[in-house]
Amino acid sequence: MTLPRQTPRPENAVEISHLRKVYGRGGNVPGAEGATVAALKDLSLNVPRGSFFALLGPNGAGKSTLINILSGLVIKTSGEARVWGHDIDRDMRAARLSLGVVPQELNLDPFFTPRELLEVQAGLFGVPAERRRSDEILAAVGLADKAGAYARSLSGGMRRRLLVAKAMVHSPPVLILDEPTAGVDVELRRQLWVTMRDLNARGTTILLTTHYLEEAQALCDRVAIIDRGELVACDDTSALLARLDSKEMLITVDRDMTRVPAGLVPFRTELRSPRQVSVSYPPSRAHSGEIIAAIQDAGFVITNLTTREAALEDVFLRLTRHGPGDGDRAAAAQ
Ligand code: ADP
Repeated sequence: MTLPRQTPRPENAVEISHLRKVYGRGGNVPGAEGATVAALKDLSLNVPRGSFFALLGPNGAGKSTLINILSGLVIKTSGEARVWGHDIDRDMRAARLSLGVVPQELNLDPFFTPRELLEVQAGLFGVPAERRRSDEILAAVGLADKAGAYARSLSGGMRRRLLVAKAMVHSPPVLILDEPTAGVDVELRRQLWVTMRDLNARGTTILLTTHYLEEAQALCDRVAIIDRGELVACDDTSALLARLDSKEMLITVDRDMTRVPAGLVPFRTELRSPRQVSVSYPPSRAHSGEIIAAIQDAGFVITNLTTREAALEDVFLRLTRHGPGDGDRAAAAQ
């Protein structure tokens, strides 16, 4: 069995075109016979080669369905998908070999050492003995000194890194990480970040799903947000944040304000306390100096001032908010 190493490097590590998935329901669910769920509705997106790509969306958005289609666990209803240039219909084997998937669950056999585990996994993927790199991979995820330890003696964070190592045995150019830091404490999360950044810096394209939006913002250069099976945004992280065009300034003054100074009327303001006002403004059209001047012109002395940039969390909430917020969503998605 040969690994698809010789494939020319494609422009996009993953290409998804008009992908649809409709789950059929029925049978065992009383009253649901024949009902269907459209989990992906005509979804198209590309994951550029070498990118660190976040796939975000609320629960039920269709993220797992998408990942499972790419890894061959779920059969799509229609549309096309390619992994490293390999069409999943015509060449699922090559597509699958181009992909490493790190699952959410810590499903490790406790009786194997990390090195044994990687050797077994390499065998399953048909990696010939001379091309196995178990020790190199363990070093890459910071587990070199644990190569001979029993998996059951590893901490939670080490096990997660071992799962990443396991997904890397066949040297896939594309790695999918499904909620890799869920339930992991802050320190271990940082360690995993270092591992993921390092793998990406060495050329592995990473597709990451996470509930921690600050994690996506810190790690990922490109972000796709899906909601109810549809793509609501796909852009460079910086462009997505700039699109929100919103900054917040929190200003504290030397004496009580009975009302917001007149010069701040063009902005969205909120009196947080008699001496503190928050001002939201679009940095593309307004300057922080205008806001400061408006306060000073009203005779106040500023005793403290902090600013907050828009965060990915703000973009996410705006784009995936349902009901009355749908108008915002249409405007922000333009
Ligand atoms: P996410 O991973 O973003 O939470 P999923 O892909 O798990 O979303 O689910 C998308 C939609 O498809 C949801 O409405 C979910 O209930 C439905 N779904 C997922 N798997 C199945 C299945 N095996 N059978 C029927 N419906 C499913």
